[in-house]
Amino acid sequence: MLSKPEKMILTAGPSISEKEISYVMDAVKNGWNEHFNDYVEKFEHEFAKYTGAKYAVTTSGGTWAFLLACAACGIGKGDEVIFPDLAYFSVTDVVVQLGAKPVFVDVEKESWCIDPQKIKKAITKKTKAIAPVNMYGNMPLMYEILDIAQKHNLYIIEDSCPALGSTYLGKHAGTFGDFGCFSFQGAKIATAGGLGGMLITDNEKLFETAKYFNRQGESYSRKFFQTQHGYCFDMTNMQAAMGLAQLERIEEFVEKKRQINVWYKEYLGNIEGITLNSEKEGERSNKWMSSIVLNGEFPINRDELRIKLKEEKIDTRPFFYPVCVFPMYKAVNNPISQMLSKNGMNLPSGVHRTKEEIEYICYQIRKLLHD
Ligand SMILES: *Cc1c(COP(=O)(O)O)cnc(C)c1O
Repeated sequence: MLSKPEKMILTAGPSISEKEISYVMDAVKNGWNEHFNDYVEKFEHEFAKYTGAKYAVTTSGGTWAFLLACAACGIGKGDEVIFPDLAYFSVTDVVVQLGAKPVFVDVEKESWCIDPQKIKKAITKKTKAIAPVNMYGNMPLMYEILDIAQKHNLYIIEDSCPALGSTYLGKHAGTFGDFGCFSFQGAKIATAGGLGGMLITDNEKLFETAKYFNRQGESYSRKFFQTQHGYCFDMTNMQAAMGLAQLERIEEFVEKKRQINVWYKEYLGNIEGITLNSEKEGERSNKWMSSIVLNGEFPINRDELRIKLKEEKIDTRPFFYPVCVFPMYKAVNNPISQMLSKNGMNLPSGVHRTKEEIEYICYQIRKLLHD
């Protein structure tokens, strides 16, 4: 088995091949004047094709894709948007910035994603949208959520930021609701030069509205005539060049991430009190982050385990906090989100990880938990 490595085994990190380098070099050399947007257009086209969405537009981040989606749905003052409590705070911030209120409900214990039963109880006259999150690449019960949205005439904006390549019954994350949002930040399964995002939809009208907001609200027909306050969250052609190269390799990345998860299951799956990522029937998670939740009796807790693992050159990340515990909100009692947040952690899951490294990591985890 591997002995203690000199360099930290990180939780994430991209794979950059000759393809990425050649596309980016091409964009640097030739992506100007009449070619200034070639890679952007190609990236959007190929992304829509891969996910099966009708329309796709690049953005400077997943968060900003989410903002454009909210703006296009007309979310604003007096509206409520239902989120899982276990979410990433950048997207809930967006809703607040637009003058609306995020409402936090609990998640499913197995998928770590929003619980449809809890959504039903949180709907009020003010509810305008549901925002399911593909936590660490996992799929929520999207068909039940669609039913609820239809019944109550609500938008669905999927925070699929970490879930490129995840599918449920063959359908891609981000294609169930009105909008899907993706991130190409450097730690994600595919990156566009460290930052970037994509917004997808099947709805032409919503798509045009989102793009209009992203054009700073400039009139369709009169150049430089602004008809609405807006935004500009564009991606550069050079970023798109890298994004396109990564997209062309996405199945390779998903396969590797899933393999890493199988290795973790092999070494940790039989320990009482440790839960690993689970998959619903019909789900293919991209396993962006292989993760564990400690819900048994162990001599040390999650935070102590993370410190000890760091000493052994193993980097980890704690699960997100339930968003409602932050001082800007009124805390609500979502016991599953709280339990997961306290006991969950992401393990090294980058596409470069080897079986020997995973074996070493699991050996250390077992040793520290006295298994
Ligand atoms: C990464 C991530 C985001 C943020 O994406 P950015 O591109 O950094 O804006 C939002 N939500 C979830 C669930 C994420 O994993």
